[in-house]
Amino acid sequence: MSRSLLIPTPQGLYCPVGDFHIDPHGQVDRAIISHGHSDHARKVAKKYLAHKDSAGILRTRLGRGISLSTLEYGESLTLNGVRVTLFPAGHLLGSSQIRCEYRGNITVFTGDFGTTKNDTCEPFQPVKCDTFIPESTFGLPLYKWEAPEIVYQEINDWWRKNRDKGLASVLYCYSLGKAQRILNALDPSIAPIIVHESVGQMNVCYRDAGIKLPQTLKGWDRGGKPSDAGAIILAPQSAISGDWRTFPGKYSTGFASGWMLLKKMRKMGDIDKGFVLSDHADWNGLLNAVKETGAERVYPTHGFTKQLSRYLKELGYDSSPLETTFSGEKMDEDKSV
Ligand SMILES: [Zn+2]
Ligand SMILES: [Zn+2]
Repeated sequence: MSRSLLIPTPQGLYCPVGDFHIDPHGQVDRAIISHGHSDHARKVAKKYLAHKDSAGILRTRLGRGISLSTLEYGESLTLNGVRVTLFPAGHLLGSSQIRCEYRGNITVFTGDFGTTKNDTCEPFQPVKCDTFIPESTFGLPLYKWEAPEIVYQEINDWWRKNRDKGLASVLYCYSLGKAQRILNALDPSIAPIIVHESVGQMNVCYRDAGIKLPQTLKGWDRGGKPSDAGAIILAPQSAISGDWRTFPGKYSTGFASGWMLLKKMRKMGDIDKGFVLSDHADWNGLLNAVKETGAERVYPTHGFTKQLSRYLKELGYDSSPLETTFSGEKMDEDKSV
């Protein structure tokens, strides 16, 4: 009888046989990191393992001196007899599903994963397993994403219209992943593109990994200069209440996030225009991913775990929610996805 090779502990998801943690939030010896978002990549481990394309992001965010080993997608490393292999998760650059195999028993943890087209990272790849631990951030049937090309067009149209009215366009989005995905899709012929420092730092990692991004100008505090009229400015959500309020020019604000599907979220934060763009799987994306693994056991983690789990049980799966985060923990950054 097979069982999950990964179990929840106060430090995060743990593999008792292999003696390693995945995306830990407490002090541990060895951590495998699914991707660079701050609710997954914390400075709590003596040794790190991640995908090669995560290296720049992790060193930028956790420090140049961390002890980090990397793998390519499909490459394996054996830890105390557990064979660990990374597969693309389609969420952002270097994002990985973590496949653990021990004596023919296979458990896959997705980390955050996205199933719509994303030209800034490798596409999500379904992996056969016995136990599947998917994130379920948007695990409700109401979450259904449009093709990203439609959203990119909306963003470029909004920017062009603002420019024609003499307005700058301030687009709030998460500085890692979402910002680069949008940059890659912007039409640079419209006007200059300005990025907040936190976006600029991550752009360096993307460009180093060979991802094509248009030319960007540094420093969003440039706004208001005559040459920047009509520019688009990409900045993280945290900047909404920051120095931006002193921006001297006229501007319109937008927000790109899966949460923009909800009216109440659009009304929050004084946003003129919401763009529904997520780097996570929607309801159908989640169900397809589950089906393609062929897993018997599915333990959703993050977000609407109970709802997804209840539905999967109705479909005949052995399923229950798996909590890898604990009350009081700050789930800041990924809330803006
Ligand atoms: Zn993430
Ligand atoms: Zn996350």
